[in-house]
Amino acid sequence: MGFVIPAPALPSVAVEGTTDRFPLRRIFCVGRNYAEHTREMGGDPNAEPPFFFTKPADAVVESGATIPYPPATTDLHHEAELVVALGAGGRDVPVDQALALVYGYAAGNDLTRRDLQAAAKAARRPWDMSKGFDNSAVVGAIRQGSIAQGRIRCVVDGVVTQDADLDEMIWPVAGIISYLSGLVTLQAGDLIFTGTPAGVGPIARGQTCVVDIDGLSPATVTVI
Ligand code: MN
Repeated sequence: MGFVIPAPALPSVAVEGTTDRFPLRRIFCVGRNYAEHTREMGGDPNAEPPFFFTKPADAVVESGATIPYPPATTDLHHEAELVVALGAGGRDVPVDQALALVYGYAAGNDLTRRDLQAAAKAARRPWDMSKGFDNSAVVGAIRQGSIAQGRIRCVVDGVVTQDADLDEMIWPVAGIISYLSGLVTLQAGDLIFTGTPAGVGPIARGQTCVVDIDGLSPATVTVI
């Protein structure tokens, strides 16, 4: 038995300290997970459980890449985020068992076509085309093990645009995994972008955007 068209390549991400790769299955993203960012986007940080959207696994871009400015937008935004890589799956995972699913962590940039997102919100339409476009998931090398706290920053051409601490998350990693596992059966190879702090803003053509998280390799992308 063969395939009727060539089988797509399996997307994957580098792992620190090895030439082996982390294979990707799905990419889940938390909508609002830092109080200041929730307020800057017009929401109430105390009101809601986390909500999720997705990106295609092959939207992933590794750190150091140069990407074309995406089509259909004039307002490409950066969102610095901690990315969780799952080494095991599960459903209805209790909070106190959730971190056992984690393979490691990476710095990430949830690239967003903010103008399309604003239009989708206004029309009560899905976010897919504002979030899940080509090259929209920048991910640094995955570091195996745990990360409890640390500074998360975004720097655009040397200017710090986002500067926060991971302990400012409304929903910590274990809570995100537990809640999401009640919505879908999580699988090894899934990534979870855990939301962005305040200070999101544009990346212009020619600029380089670095997401830096204490203890992790940076996630760097240049847009041309
Ligand atoms: Mn985001």
